[in-house]
Amino acid sequence: MNVHQSAEGILVEDRETKLFLDPSRQIKPAQGIVGISHAHQDHVRNHKTECILTPATSDLFHASEAKRKKHAYGKKTRLDNLVISMHSANHILGSSQFRIENSQVLTYTGDFKLQRSLLYPKCDVIDTDILIMEATYGSPEYVFPNPDGVYRDMGLWIKSNPGKNVIIGAYALGKSQELIKALNEMSIVPVTHPSVTQNSEVYKKHGASIEYIDSESPEGNEVMKQGFVGIVPRHLLKYEFIHGLEMQYMKPVLTSFVSGWATKYNFGVDKTFILSDHADFSQLMSYAELSGAKQIYTVHGQNHELARQIRKQLGIPAIPLADKAQKTLAEY
Ligand SMILES: [Zn+2]
Repeated sequence: MNVHQSAEGILVEDRETKLFLDPSRQIKPAQGIVGISHAHQDHVRNHKTECILTPATSDLFHASEAKRKKHAYGKKTRLDNLVISMHSANHILGSSQFRIENSQVLTYTGDFKLQRSLLYPKCDVIDTDILIMEATYGSPEYVFPNPDGVYRDMGLWIKSNPGKNVIIGAYALGKSQELIKALNEMSIVPVTHPSVTQNSEVYKKHGASIEYIDSESPEGNEVMKQGFVGIVPRHLLKYEFIHGLEMQYMKPVLTSFVSGWATKYNFGVDKTFILSDHADFSQLMSYAELSGAKQIYTVHGQNHELARQIRKQLGIPAIPLADKAQKTLAEY
């Protein structure tokens, strides 16, 4: 088994078998097959070949016409000489790590987090020989607070502003649904933008217990006249939209944005909260250490810095996958 960064993305090869993991370009049947870790836009393309993914990812992934092989977490499937299984990554609904085994074990984390989440099965660290890990927040400056404390602060902030409507910007897939759950636990049923509602319906189909009111529904119309907490995609956090709401409902609007990037930026809103679907630096380092990997390759984000920190602090060979030389004949 060999892995390298091809023009299309991460490519695992074993004899004639070619498995692309979250490729950034469309893959055709002649090139190989595809493993999709989760349904965020940067991980899905309209592939023409067979795709391995979880049932929930398939339901969230509206664009593809490709043939889909849906696998529940933990179920083993064989691809020629490789045994493949998917395991919770605790990132968004259906998100998976890939464990690929023949004479050795290779693990691809996809986007993941180790911190407890409100909606997903926990992310187990997989024992592995070779580890390909995401490095979105792979620099020591990114250490996130405990989410329980963040949600508590959010609740206090909302309750300390009676008479105002609150608009929270969040990614429509993943962050929004965790936010809905957190607000529900504070006895708040948020009003959701249709793009948030659409994904939330898939969460419900897969068993998530979340309560929200679509902003375009008759009920949403009524609720918004009384005062509300709304969840919208980030691009709507603009003066025109917010001012329009103030005029329409005759109440001041407070704005907020939730993101791991709130460690660094304030996004021009009234209040930011540090909440992320990704592992922070300390979780990335924990995963690297606990996996027992003998070789680590980093992908995305701070891939150079994370590899450097893993080498320096843990003494494990680590480089960005993109820096690995193409396979040689000796590696077969
Ligand atoms: Zn993602």
